Amino acid sequence: MKRILLIHTGGTFGMALKDGTLAPSSFIQRIIEFVPEVKQIAEIESHIVANIDSSNIGIEHWLKIADVIVQNYDDFDGFVITHGTDTMTYTASALSFILDGLSKPVILTGSQRPLSEIRTDARNNLINSVELATYPIPEVCIFFNNKLFRGNRTKKIDIWGFDAFDSPNYPPLAEVGVEVKVYEKNFLKRKNFKLNVSKNFSNEVFCVKIFPSVKVDFLMSLLELDIKGFVIEAFGSGNLPNIEERSLIPFVQKASEMGKIVAISTQAVYGKVDLTLYQCGKDALDAGALSCKDMTTETAIVKLMFLLAKYGDNVALIREEFYKPIAGEISED
Ligand code: ASP
Repeated sequence: MKRILLIHTGGTFGMALKDGTLAPSSFIQRIIEFVPEVKQIAEIESHIVANIDSSNIGIEHWLKIADVIVQNYDDFDGFVITHGTDTMTYTASALSFILDGLSKPVILTGSQRPLSEIRTDARNNLINSVELATYPIPEVCIFFNNKLFRGNRTKKIDIWGFDAFDSPNYPPLAEVGVEVKVYEKNFLKRKNFKLNVSKNFSNEVFCVKIFPSVKVDFLMSLLELDIKGFVIEAFGSGNLPNIEERSLIPFVQKASEMGKIVAISTQAVYGKVDLTLYQCGKDALDAGALSCKDMTTETAIVKLMFLLAKYGDNVALIREEFYKPIAGEISED
């Protein structure tokens, strides 16, 4: 029988499990009380990293989860992480960058209703995640409502419905219906399957969503802070205001001259940033901006955090690496 390690971090999923001490042994017992089926799928052990709302998850939790995976890597066939939905995509992106050379499935899941409640989606999400974690999927994924996505391509799109996640620019890796359909052709084509762990992130990054009449002075004042990289969530294909006093191009120019990275993502959900499509994007490109292309804003932020920590002040290298996929988060041209 395959062996799966269940790593708990918190979120709505485990709310009913809060009573008691939440030691790994009692946690796994409670899970099996509610979802006895998982025992038929695999031999399961558990590890508690935290029991918090995922709004409170930070770099230290990403690293702790990665440590648990690395320490148990040879003893398990797959890993299922129960996590709040709010920041699940950030954690998935971070793990996908940390765990280079991953050859086993790491599946994050959660739920919109707690496991103990009727009509809960937690049971379905857990059973299917455990089942999929027995397949040889060499990726960090998110499973939600019958679909398995590449984690660093997902977005939380629904607060109420059970279809909480979508992967707007990359097809699912598997779907669960009457049968399990695994789309191997969509898996990451890794060059090497030897786990190589990088565990540094910088939080000297900042993300700004622009809007009509956004005050240029406010953005300019951010340049006085110790921010090394910006993700600007711009309009459409990556457009910024570029005329007269509302132009943000001087901001991009000045930031770039100061050796700061400015990466442009989009407020649109589907499609990719193309800074050559309109003059508003082209001016930003000429002033030194990078394009997030088809990366989600969430993943672009985490990638910038990762690259800044990895390459320090080598801005030229960071700019080059930003366009290269680390774990399938961006499409190659
Ligand atoms: N606020 C919760 C969290 O992200 C929501 C959830 O679990 O779905 O932890």
